[in-house]
Amino acid sequence: MDFSLSKFLSGLWGEPYDWVKWVHRNFSDNHCPECLMLDGCFFKGDNHPSHPHHPYCHCILENISQSKAQSQATVFADYRKFNPYLFNIGKKYPHTKEKLFESWGYNVNDSNFLKSEIEKQGLKKYLAGEYKLGNLNKDGQRISIRIAIPRKDKEGIVSFISGWMVYPNGKIRLTTPYGGK
Ligand SMILES: [Zn+2]
Ligand SMILES: [Zn+2]
Repeated sequence: MDFSLSKFLSGLWGEPYDWVKWVHRNFSDNHCPECLMLDGCFFKGDNHPSHPHHPYCHCILENISQSKAQSQATVFADYRKFNPYLFNIGKKYPHTKEKLFESWGYNVNDSNFLKSEIEKQGLKKYLAGEYKLGNLNKDGQRISIRIAIPRKDKEGIVSFISGWMVYPNGKIRLTTPYGGK
C-alpha cells in the first residue's frame, strides 16, 4: 500500500498505522522460501524488507497500529546463549567473546542479568524501530540491535551489536548476544 495513503487513512481513524504485517498470499504453486518466512512478521512501516520482494511477489503489507505491535510483541533469549556459549564454558566454542565481557567485569554468573537486560532492550528497540535489517534467506529475516550495559569493573557504559531473528506476530528471538562492536 502507498504509505502516504496509509498516513491519510490513519488520520481518519485516529490511530496511527506505524507498523506493517507482511502477508504472503498463495496465488501460485511457487512458494518462495523467503516470503514464507516473512509471512506474519511485524516491521516498523519505514523499516521493512524491500516490498515487493521480487517480480511476481504476491505478498502484501497490512497496516497495523503501534499499539497492536506493542501488545503482541514478544522477545526470547535462550539462557544457553550466555551459559555456556557467550562465556565459552569449557572452551568449547571457536570464539573469544568471553574475554571482552570479562574485560568489562562480567562472568558467567551474570548470565541471567545479561539475558534479561538484552531481552528488555531488544524488545524496546524493536518496538521503537531501532533495528537494522540484516540477511534474509530461507531461515528468515535477521535484524541487529545495539545493546548498552554498564561496565562492572569501573565507571562507564559499553555497547555492542546483538543479532536476532524475526518471527510472526511480533516475536523476535536472540541468535547472537554479541555480534560485533
Ligand atoms: Zn517471495
Ligand atoms: Zn512475496
